[in-house]
Amino acid sequence: MIVDRLSEIRDEIPKEVTLVAVSKTKPSSDIQIAYDAGQRIFGENKVQELTAKEEALPKDIQWHFIGHLQSNKVKYIASFVSVIHAVDSLKLLKEINKQAIKNNRTIDCLLQFHIADEESKFGLDFEKAQELLGSREFVELQNVNIIGVMGMATFTKNEEQVRDEFQNLESYFNVLKSHYFKFNEDFRTISMGMSGDYRLAIEEGSNMIRLGSTIFGAR
Ligand SMILES: *Cc1c(COP(=O)(O)O)cnc(C)c1O
Repeated sequence: MIVDRLSEIRDEIPKEVTLVAVSKTKPSSDIQIAYDAGQRIFGENKVQELTAKEEALPKDIQWHFIGHLQSNKVKYIASFVSVIHAVDSLKLLKEINKQAIKNNRTIDCLLQFHIADEESKFGLDFEKAQELLGSREFVELQNVNIIGVMGMATFTKNEEQVRDEFQNLESYFNVLKSHYFKFNEDFRTISMGMSGDYRLAIEEGSNMIRLGSTIFGAR
Protein backbone atom coordinates (compact mmCIF):
# COMPACT_ATOMS: atom_id res chain seq x y z
CA MET A 1 0.00 0.00 0.00
CA ILE A 2 2.64 2.58 1.07
CA VAL A 3 4.98 1.37 -1.64
CA ASP A 4 2.28 1.52 -4.32
CA ARG A 5 1.16 4.98 -3.30
CA LEU A 6 4.72 6.28 -3.32
CA SER A 7 5.38 5.01 -6.80
CA GLU A 8 2.06 6.36 -8.11
CA ILE A 9 2.85 9.80 -6.70
CA ARG A 10 6.39 9.76 -8.03
CA ASP A 11 5.05 8.87 -11.48
CA GLU A 12 2.51 11.66 -11.28
CA ILE A 13 4.55 14.63 -10.09
CA PRO A 14 7.17 16.50 -12.15
CA LYS A 15 10.69 15.45 -11.32
CA GLU A 16 11.67 18.92 -10.09
CA VAL A 17 9.06 18.67 -7.33
CA THR A 18 10.50 17.36 -4.05
CA LEU A 19 8.28 14.97 -2.13
CA VAL A 20 8.32 15.22 1.65
CA ALA A 21 6.66 12.09 3.07
CA VAL A 22 4.86 13.31 6.18
CA SER A 23 5.14 10.48 8.68
CA LYS A 24 3.82 12.20 11.81
CA THR A 25 1.87 9.88 14.13
CA LYS A 26 2.90 6.86 12.02
CA PRO A 27 5.18 4.13 13.38
CA SER A 28 8.82 3.83 12.40
CA SER A 29 7.96 0.57 10.65
CA ASP A 30 5.91 2.57 8.11
CA ILE A 31 8.84 4.91 7.54
CA GLN A 32 11.15 1.94 7.05
CA ILE A 33 8.81 0.58 4.36
CA ALA A 34 8.88 3.91 2.52
CA TYR A 35 12.65 4.11 3.01
CA ASP A 36 13.12 0.66 1.51
CA ALA A 37 11.12 1.89 -1.48
CA GLY A 38 13.66 4.68 -1.95
CA GLN A 39 12.08 7.58 -0.07
CA ARG A 40 14.64 9.60 1.89
CA ILE A 41 12.84 12.80 2.90
CA PHE A 42 10.37 12.60 5.79
CA GLY A 43 8.41 15.28 7.61
CA GLU A 44 7.53 15.38 11.29
CA ASN A 45 5.84 18.03 13.40
CA LYS A 46 6.61 17.05 17.01
CA VAL A 47 10.10 17.35 18.45
CA GLN A 48 9.90 14.34 20.73
CA GLU A 49 8.48 12.08 18.07
CA LEU A 50 11.11 13.26 15.60
CA THR A 51 14.07 12.65 17.91
CA ALA A 52 12.83 9.16 18.76
CA LYS A 53 12.41 8.25 15.10
CA GLU A 54 15.75 9.77 14.16
CA GLU A 55 17.46 7.49 16.69
CA ALA A 56 15.66 4.41 15.46
CA LEU A 57 15.93 4.86 11.71
CA PRO A 58 18.69 5.01 9.06
CA LYS A 59 21.06 7.96 9.30
CA ASP A 60 20.77 9.04 5.69
CA ILE A 61 17.16 10.10 6.13
CA GLN A 62 16.66 13.83 5.62
CA TRP A 63 14.29 14.97 8.34
CA HIS A 64 12.14 18.00 7.67
CA PHE A 65 10.54 19.66 10.65
CA ILE A 66 7.18 20.91 9.34
CA GLY A 67 5.31 21.98 12.48
CA HIS A 68 5.36 24.98 14.73
CA LEU A 69 8.70 24.96 16.53
CA GLN A 70 9.17 26.50 19.96
CA SER A 71 12.52 28.23 20.41
CA ASN A 72 13.35 26.24 23.54
CA LYS A 73 13.13 22.96 21.58
CA VAL A 74 15.43 23.82 18.69
CA LYS A 75 18.38 22.36 20.60
CA TYR A 76 16.94 18.83 20.43
CA ILE A 77 16.90 18.68 16.64
CA ALA A 78 19.68 21.09 15.64
CA SER A 79 22.34 18.42 15.21
CA PHE A 80 20.53 16.52 12.48
CA VAL A 81 17.47 18.32 11.08
CA SER A 82 17.68 18.88 7.35
CA VAL A 83 15.10 21.66 6.82
CA ILE A 84 12.93 23.61 9.25
CA HIS A 85 9.76 24.60 7.37
CA ALA A 86 7.78 26.84 9.66
CA VAL A 87 10.03 29.72 10.61
CA ASP A 88 7.92 32.77 11.35
CA SER A 89 9.92 34.99 13.70
CA LEU A 90 13.33 36.54 14.15
CA LYS A 91 13.41 35.13 17.66
CA LEU A 92 13.14 31.58 16.33
CA LEU A 93 15.71 32.23 13.61
CA LYS A 94 18.17 33.56 16.17
CA GLU A 95 17.78 30.44 18.26
CA ILE A 96 18.20 28.19 15.22
CA ASN A 97 21.35 30.14 14.36
CA LYS A 98 22.69 29.75 17.89
CA GLN A 99 22.09 26.01 17.96
CA ALA A 100 23.49 25.62 14.45
CA ILE A 101 26.72 27.30 15.60
CA LYS A 102 26.92 24.93 18.58
CA ASN A 103 26.67 22.04 16.18
CA ASN A 104 29.16 23.56 13.77
CA ARG A 105 26.72 23.57 10.86
CA THR A 106 24.27 25.64 8.85
CA ILE A 107 20.55 24.87 9.01
CA ASP A 108 18.25 25.32 6.01
CA CYS A 109 14.98 27.10 6.80
CA LEU A 110 11.78 28.11 5.05
CA LEU A 111 9.82 31.21 5.99
CA GLN A 112 6.24 30.30 6.78
CA PHE A 113 3.56 32.63 5.46
CA HIS A 114 0.01 32.86 6.67
CA ILE A 115 -1.95 32.52 3.41
CA ALA A 116 -5.17 30.84 4.57
CA ASP A 117 -8.20 32.79 5.70
CA GLU A 118 -8.33 30.59 8.79
CA GLU A 119 -7.41 32.01 12.15
CA SER A 120 -3.90 30.94 13.00
CA LYS A 121 -1.24 32.29 15.27
CA PHE A 122 1.43 31.03 12.92
CA GLY A 123 2.98 32.38 9.77
CA LEU A 124 4.29 35.75 8.64
CA ASP A 125 2.45 38.31 6.56
CA PHE A 126 4.42 39.92 3.78
CA GLU A 127 5.17 43.10 5.68
CA LYS A 128 6.54 41.20 8.68
CA ALA A 129 8.71 39.13 6.40
CA GLN A 130 10.20 42.22 4.82
CA GLU A 131 10.84 43.69 8.24
CA LEU A 132 12.61 40.50 9.28
CA LEU A 133 14.73 40.15 6.16
CA GLY A 134 15.65 43.84 6.18
CA SER A 135 16.80 43.88 9.78
CA ARG A 136 20.45 44.10 10.73
CA GLU A 137 19.96 41.27 13.20
CA PHE A 138 18.90 38.96 10.40
CA VAL A 139 21.89 39.81 8.26
CA GLU A 140 24.17 38.84 11.13
CA LEU A 141 22.83 35.29 11.29
CA GLN A 142 25.52 33.32 9.52
CA ASN A 143 24.41 29.76 10.30
CA VAL A 144 20.86 29.82 9.00
CA ASN A 145 20.21 29.51 5.30
CA ILE A 146 16.81 30.67 4.06
CA ILE A 147 16.00 28.39 1.13
CA GLY A 148 12.46 29.57 0.38
CA VAL A 149 8.90 29.86 1.61
CA MET A 150 6.19 27.60 2.99
CA GLY A 151 2.47 27.92 3.47
CA MET A 152 -0.79 26.09 3.98
CA ALA A 153 -3.96 26.91 2.08
CA THR A 154 -7.40 27.07 3.63
CA PHE A 155 -9.03 23.68 4.14
CA THR A 156 -11.92 24.13 1.70
CA LYS A 157 -13.44 22.59 -1.40
CA ASN A 158 -13.34 25.99 -3.08
CA GLU A 159 -10.58 25.47 -5.67
CA GLU A 160 -10.43 29.10 -6.72
CA GLN A 161 -9.71 30.19 -3.19
CA VAL A 162 -6.98 27.58 -2.74
CA ARG A 163 -5.44 28.61 -6.05
CA ASP A 164 -5.51 32.28 -5.02
CA GLU A 165 -3.74 31.49 -1.78
CA PHE A 166 -1.06 29.46 -3.54
CA GLN A 167 -0.64 32.28 -6.05
CA ASN A 168 -0.13 34.69 -3.18
CA LEU A 169 2.62 32.53 -1.76
CA GLU A 170 4.29 32.23 -5.14
CA SER A 171 4.23 35.99 -5.59
CA TYR A 172 5.73 36.49 -2.12
CA PHE A 173 8.48 34.10 -3.13
CA ASN A 174 9.14 36.02 -6.34
CA VAL A 175 9.27 39.43 -4.69
CA LEU A 176 11.53 38.19 -1.89
CA LYS A 177 13.76 36.50 -4.42
CA SER A 178 14.26 39.70 -6.38
CA HIS A 179 14.66 41.97 -3.33
CA TYR A 180 16.67 39.89 -0.88
CA PHE A 181 17.95 36.73 -2.55
CA LYS A 182 18.76 37.73 -6.09
CA PHE A 183 22.23 36.23 -6.02
CA ASN A 184 21.43 33.43 -3.64
CA GLU A 185 20.93 30.22 -5.59
CA ASP A 186 19.79 28.39 -2.47
CA PHE A 187 16.61 30.46 -2.26
CA ARG A 188 14.49 28.40 -4.62
CA THR A 189 11.94 26.38 -2.64
CA ILE A 190 8.18 26.90 -2.56
CA SER A 191 6.83 24.37 -0.08
CA MET A 192 3.09 24.19 -0.65
CA GLY A 193 0.60 21.39 -1.20
CA MET A 194 -0.67 18.59 1.03
CA SER A 195 -2.66 15.43 0.26
CA GLY A 196 -5.84 17.33 -0.55
CA ASP A 197 -4.41 20.11 -2.68
CA TYR A 198 -0.99 19.16 -4.02
CA ARG A 199 -2.12 19.02 -7.65
CA LEU A 200 -3.32 22.61 -7.49
CA ALA A 201 -0.18 23.59 -5.63
CA ILE A 202 2.07 22.18 -8.34
CA GLU A 203 0.04 23.97 -11.01
CA GLU A 204 0.60 27.19 -9.07
CA GLY A 205 4.34 26.79 -8.81
CA SER A 206 5.09 24.51 -5.89
CA ASN A 207 8.36 22.62 -6.03
CA MET A 208 8.06 20.89 -2.65
CA ILE A 209 4.94 19.05 -1.53
CA ARG A 210 4.26 17.60 1.91
CA LEU A 211 2.11 14.48 1.70
CA GLY A 212 0.99 12.43 4.67
CA SER A 213 -2.35 10.69 4.54
CA THR A 214 -2.30 9.95 0.82
CA ILE A 215 0.90 7.93 1.35
CA PHE A 216 0.51 6.45 4.82
CA GLY A 217 -3.29 6.38 5.20
CA ALA A 218 -5.58 8.44 7.42
CA ARG A 219 -4.30 9.54 10.80
C1 LIG B 1 0.22 17.06 8.56
C2 LIG B 1 0.85 18.04 7.66
C3 LIG B 1 0.98 17.79 6.28
C4 LIG B 1 0.46 16.54 5.61
O1 LIG B 1 -0.94 16.52 5.62
P1 LIG B 1 -1.77 15.45 4.76
O2 LIG B 1 -3.09 16.12 4.55
O3 LIG B 1 -1.86 14.23 5.58
O4 LIG B 1 -1.04 15.23 3.49
C5 LIG B 1 1.61 18.74 5.52
N1 LIG B 1 2.09 19.88 6.04
C6 LIG B 1 1.97 20.15 7.36
C7 LIG B 1 2.53 21.43 7.87
C8 LIG B 1 1.35 19.25 8.20
O5 LIG B 1 1.26 19.54 9.50
